[in-house]
Amino acid sequence: MKAVVDQETCIGCGLCPSICPEVFQMNDDGKAEEVVDEVSGELVDSAKEAADSCPVNAISVE
Ligand code: SF4
Repeated sequence: MKAVVDQETCIGCGLCPSICPEVFQMNDDGKAEEVVDEVSGELVDSAKEAADSCPVNAISVE
């Protein structure tokens, strides 16, 4: 699975790295970005939870 943060949409709330720091981190622009290319195993559920929790739906998972 891939998780991708839309940099245009992200408002930098910090929620996704707090839910799933193994997959998301904040970058120097104050936006979230992916730490890993491929999300697998036990991280899938928490990455999906982070995507569902994003207030502006900036995270797509596929
Ligand atoms: S939860 Fe959404 S708005 Fe907040 S930092 Fe993550 S991608 Fe950006």
